Amino acid sequence: MKITGIRLGTLSVPLRVPFKTALRTVERVEDVIVAVLTDTGAVGYGEAPPTGVITGDTTGAIVGAIRDHIGKSIIGRDVDELEEVLQTIQRCIVKNTSAKAAVDMAVWDLYGQLYRIPVYKLMGGARKQIVTDITISVNDPEEMARDAVNALSRGYGCLKVKVGANPALDVARLTAIREVAGPEIKIRIDANQAWKPKEAVKLLNQMQEKGLDLEFVEQPVAAHDLEGLRYVTERSYVSVLADESVFSPEDAVRIMERRAADFINIKLMKCGGLYNALKIASAAEIYGVECMIGCMLEAKISVNAAVAIACAKNIITKVDLDGPVLCSEDPIQGGAVFREKDITVSDLPGLGIQGIDPAYIRWMS
Ligand SMILES: [Mg+2]
Repeated sequence: MKITGIRLGTLSVPLRVPFKTALRTVERVEDVIVAVLTDTGAVGYGEAPPTGVITGDTTGAIVGAIRDHIGKSIIGRDVDELEEVLQTIQRCIVKNTSAKAAVDMAVWDLYGQLYRIPVYKLMGGARKQIVTDITISVNDPEEMARDAVNALSRGYGCLKVKVGANPALDVARLTAIREVAGPEIKIRIDANQAWKPKEAVKLLNQMQEKGLDLEFVEQPVAAHDLEGLRYVTERSYVSVLADESVFSPEDAVRIMERRAADFINIKLMKCGGLYNALKIASAAEIYGVECMIGCMLEAKISVNAAVAIACAKNIITKVDLDGPVLCSEDPIQGGAVFREKDITVSDLPGLGIQGIDPAYIRWMS
């Protein structure tokens, strides 16, 4: 199965409601789509969201990296040489992890199709179903409590709340949510690097003393500040999950070696795809550090690849893959089935994506 070409396009899917964090408000998912074509007629699909604020990857940069570097390096190669092709994707250009992730998942998709095996089975095949949390958009406390009630009525048992800009308001928001959620529901928070280490310890311990009972905090301090991250992990009553601090497998090892975090968040767009995500998962197994699988604001093609690794590996115990359920429509045929919190992996060969509704995609070539 030889790679004969790459098609690039942009996918646009409206969200159910605008997604608000302290930094931005987003109304649509607008992602780059890649279709890797082969001489057998098999097509492998990939997707990359331009999340400049986290990965530095913009739409133009993703398109340029794939068209001018990654594509040129793998066209003419045989999918059967999986290891070679995956390493070429990583080595032909530095950084550009979102572009690499999109092509990497498309190649895995093709390799699974070639040998007629679902990719999650190829990588381990631990289970067929996983359960995701859902993010509650940042609003005033009453509205967030209403959104939480709505999420609970839809069956969610784990809520994720973005915090950081205003500590007093954060406590009011979380208190309002904990009141309506009761003691059984899990609440995890994501500070997206908002705090200084000492401030983080003080705020987190105050939150626990108020009875908020937080499951963990994501990335309380700046991404580069591993000493600060360790400071919080050692002193806070709330467990710490490293997100923006972990892009590469090397980052993950550095953090686990220093015990700078309790958990690691794997995102395909940060690490450059399944090839490196598997390395992070393997390292985490050695250190005994449980992982979460997360996503950006993504539609179903790339989240589907994240579902495959989450279903493959037991070390991934936490799931934050609410991208597709935040979308108001699903223009992707095939792949994992998302029924609110319950996600079932596709048992079709490869990653199981069958096609994209042409009304939602603009192909560039
Ligand atoms: Mg995060």
